[in-house]
Amino acid sequence: MFSRRRPSFANRPIAACSAMAVVCCSVWWAAPLQAAQPVVKGPESVADWDRAGQGFIEAGKRLSPNAARAKNVILFVGDGMGISTVTAARILEGQLAGRPGEENRLSFENMPYVALSKTYSWDQQTSDSAPTMTAMATGHKAREGMLSVDHLTPRGECSASVNRDHALKTILEYAAESGKSTGIVTTARLTHATPAALYAHIAFRDWEADSNLPELSNGEPCRGAEGSVKDIARQLIEVSPAVRLSLKVALGGGRMNFMPASRDGVDGVDDEYPKGKGRRADGRDLIAEWLTTRGAGAAYVWNRQQFEALDTARTTHLLGLFEPSHMQYEADRAKDGAGEPSLSEMTAKSLQLLQKDRKGYFLHVEAGRIDHAHHAGNAKRALIETIEFARAVRYAMDHTDPKDTLIIVTADHSHTFTIAGYPSRGNDILGLVREVPATDGAPLAPSKDANGLPFTTLGYANGPGHRGAGRPDLTRVDTAGLDFLQEAAVPLGSETHGGEDVAIYARGPRAHLVRGSMEQNWIFHVMRDAFGF
Ligand SMILES: [Zn+2]
Repeated sequence: MFSRRRPSFANRPIAACSAMAVVCCSVWWAAPLQAAQPVVKGPESVADWDRAGQGFIEAGKRLSPNAARAKNVILFVGDGMGISTVTAARILEGQLAGRPGEENRLSFENMPYVALSKTYSWDQQTSDSAPTMTAMATGHKAREGMLSVDHLTPRGECSASVNRDHALKTILEYAAESGKSTGIVTTARLTHATPAALYAHIAFRDWEADSNLPELSNGEPCRGAEGSVKDIARQLIEVSPAVRLSLKVALGGGRMNFMPASRDGVDGVDDEYPKGKGRRADGRDLIAEWLTTRGAGAAYVWNRQQFEALDTARTTHLLGLFEPSHMQYEADRAKDGAGEPSLSEMTAKSLQLLQKDRKGYFLHVEAGRIDHAHHAGNAKRALIETIEFARAVRYAMDHTDPKDTLIIVTADHSHTFTIAGYPSRGNDILGLVREVPATDGAPLAPSKDANGLPFTTLGYANGPGHRGAGRPDLTRVDTAGLDFLQEAAVPLGSETHGGEDVAIYARGPRAHLVRGSMEQNWIFHVMRDAFGF
């Protein structure tokens, strides 16, 4: 009568009650003939697992390294996109499409070559974005906060000539000198550490406008002084002749660093926000200087309508500055007054401009705000940024030829972001942990901590999500709300970066050189070798 195979969990009460009253066992005998079904399950069958595994092996056997030179290289950087961020974003993207989510793959997870990147810098175990992007851009590990100057550069070095003596040539500068076109796209300020490492050489990442240059300890001003280093915004405009010709696209935020605080006694007022002002103490209008120094085909746009109306056939050099500071988060972009393009739209426009050059191009695309949302302890915005980043990569994968275009996707560093609990398959990645019930057919219920309180799958080791003494009761809290801050163990105003390795994904010529456990600065050597510089 009970010849049907019974799941092991169902036997547990029997064993436990064997020495107990008959009442207990009579409960077992009264169990329904129909076995209870699991309340959570994946959609896969045994045949599906076999087919997918075989498909992976067959694809691997067909894979042959492409040893050709790369005509084009695209370096995608998800700022702060640690591996836990990739996993959680993959699940969220799948769940938004109505699937359990775990089986989903972000666009770049389909690339054939993957490696690990060790992100420590010359003087940091857990690094900031300046030396990590310097490593990828120049092939050298560098110091905390420094952009494309070597590790022997003194901290706070203000002299232009000393900064110049320590400058490290970047992959963008190599590409420019070889006659290729170049482009930089970011959702952060264009003068922020990651994009700036490609064109600026400076001992401190915060010197984005001249007004950020400090007073020196001996009372001497750095700003405005004879022989002082140029601020980062100025370095984007006053590049070498080769880079000036080559840099066809620069899109991002950070308008205020290019605008004068005042000029001829008139305040430099922002186009989008009447209360917004420029930050340049030298009175220069670097946006106007872009237009005058880049020739007749130069263009400047600052809103979505201008961006969409752009004549890509006629435009040779495009500067887009869509916010005074960082661009909006993807989750908030629709609410922006003047409108902004998305990261994938900026990637598409950049490729349309750069693909006009028959000699090829180097393009850097950064999702700069994954990092910012993590610093704020706000996982949902970070994951929506990551999903949009994957969309931008997908556009590039679909609109370039893997025979001649190397695409590398990586992160500069990780964050203290974790995925924990024992959430069941398909459990809302932004929700409370609900484990697989111990007995098939039993209802799903939130897991409880040692004090009987539920907890979320996602969390941080530190940051603003710390709730003070004792944990909050999240039973009636919308943990999937856009502004929800995941809990953090250590109270900090800003959540920190994480020090573990990040992933590198690659496709195209010499992508097979991305392999094993890599030092982050070897990424530069892969790109340089692929280009043949
Ligand atoms: Zn950061």
